[in-house]
Amino acid sequence: MIEELFPGIIKIEVPLPKNPLRMLNAYCIKGKERHLLIDNGFNRPECLEAMNGALDSLGIARKDLDFFLTHLHADHCGLTADLCESGDSKIYASALDGVSINNTTRGPSHWAGFLRSMIPHGFSEEQAAILSSNHPAIRYCPSHELDFVTVGHGDVLEYGGYTLHILDARGHTPGLLVLYEPGNKILFSSDLILGDITPNIARWPNVRDSLGDFLNSLAMVEKMDVSLTLPAHRSLVPDTKKRIRELYAHHERRLNEVRELLAKGPRQAYDVAAHMTWDMRGEWEDFPVPQKWFACGEALSHLDRLVALGEAEEKTQGETIVFGLKR
Ligand SMILES: [Zn+2]
Repeated sequence: MIEELFPGIIKIEVPLPKNPLRMLNAYCIKGKERHLLIDNGFNRPECLEAMNGALDSLGIARKDLDFFLTHLHADHCGLTADLCESGDSKIYASALDGVSINNTTRGPSHWAGFLRSMIPHGFSEEQAAILSSNHPAIRYCPSHELDFVTVGHGDVLEYGGYTLHILDARGHTPGLLVLYEPGNKILFSSDLILGDITPNIARWPNVRDSLGDFLNSLAMVEKMDVSLTLPAHRSLVPDTKKRIRELYAHHERRLNEVRELLAKGPRQAYDVAAHMTWDMRGEWEDFPVPQKWFACGEALSHLDRLVALGEAEEKTQGETIVFGLKR
């Protein structure tokens, strides 16, 4: 489904089959000569069909299309290689997430270390093996490496008469970028701010406190004048400040949940995740392995936050890693 939200700014809904996110909101900014497509979908036929149908109905020739990838997740960048038909097309991404996107295209062996990193936190060898074929980042990544135009905080793009300011909004991923259009006070928030669901905040290699980064990014947007937030999933957000306050409260509740679990004694992240509250229906034991991966990542980001706040500590015990409250 496509919907013109502002003159030349079109929302394109891309289905994400069998994924709890259900749908990606991609946004196309139509210009006189070149157009910009913000995010695009998993590399799977259902997404490609929806995107091609939308672009055709908008009369957009692929050779006139440039791409903005807000972050490394495959539901945002998976179709880029298939849609990018011309060497003249620019593919904008942050330096950090651009490197990670190209790493996903190099196959599971390149990811083995990252997937096995959850074993000391309670994942089994078997679960790590399942992930190497099942993790959406690997399964639905772009068909081949991409040649990026690296962009970052403070850079500006012009499309369709709109000026788009690029902002570093790291947290959900280490290099997540959002776009702000000051003329109409529109924020293309990607997965920084979502309307009906909360963005997954996970631990990332070489990031000390990704939840802290995420909260800082929200604080940056909270100070801005935003009339309408256009998120990458679910419904548009008319009251951005209210939604930010709800997200702060959500993570404070989550942190309290983790504090209470640690108060009962030190434990692994897997055990913390198994006892946290999740929106997904069913028992923890029945969660698919990729969902358990995301849940453990979320538990770790909250544990890392408590470590950064000086409330908890991470200890290696033989081959396992446990977290406990500081005394
Ligand atoms: Zn994402």
